[in-house]
Amino acid sequence: MSEPATQFELPSRSVFEPPSYPNVWFYVHDRLAASQDAAVSFMTGWLREQCGITDDFGHWKPPEASDSQARLGGLQPWQGGTDPTLHHAHDLHIRYYYVALRQTGKHHVTLRGAEGGSERYHRFAGSVHYEVADEHPAHPYIDDCPYCGRAGSYAGADGLFAGVHEPLGLELLLYGTIRGEAVARPDGRPVGGVQLMKETHALHIERIRPARPDMNIVDLAVVLIGPRGS
Ligand SMILES: [Zn+2]
Ligand SMILES: [Zn+2]
Repeated sequence: MSEPATQFELPSRSVFEPPSYPNVWFYVHDRLAASQDAAVSFMTGWLREQCGITDDFGHWKPPEASDSQARLGGLQPWQGGTDPTLHHAHDLHIRYYYVALRQTGKHHVTLRGAEGGSERYHRFAGSVHYEVADEHPAHPYIDDCPYCGRAGSYAGADGLFAGVHEPLGLELLLYGTIRGEAVARPDGRPVGGVQLMKETHALHIERIRPARPDMNIVDLAVVLIGPRGS
């Protein structure tokens, strides 16, 4: 785990004023995408095609300062507990942030490469979480759910959103797992997650300690994507 804001020059939350600091940052090498626009299309398109994460809400959702959003629904249906009205499936929900970064010139960054040269990346951010399905009357919180609630290693979490839903969403997005177990899509295929990209691209996932005061999250990752063989 590395220190924030130094190596990756992560922008301040005030750039776009979302309620939560975005917990996943996509850095797409300029040999894969010639602009930030192309990087956003590439990455959100990959997540839609490979993992089924798409905007199928069909109704207005609060953007919370984001530029677009998407989800993967119907996950891990829970039918435990005594109250059937609390039975629910889950959404992986992500909001994407890119326009404000572009407007403030923070949409690309040059990093030192492994061999000492410099590598140019286009970047944008996401805020991802795992929650009770959007359509469920109890959306987004059911506290005692073994999947999305304060259970297991998350039993002592302070906030259900920042302490449980966000770290679970990041785990599922990156690795295709919830609490270490592989999650299947409603059609039975695995979610897979961003780590699948290592089969086709040079992929590096860096977990960062969100120590800066504006980083009101508990887990943070930078995803570096480059062409294979770079
Ligand atoms: Zn949500
Ligand atoms: Zn749940």
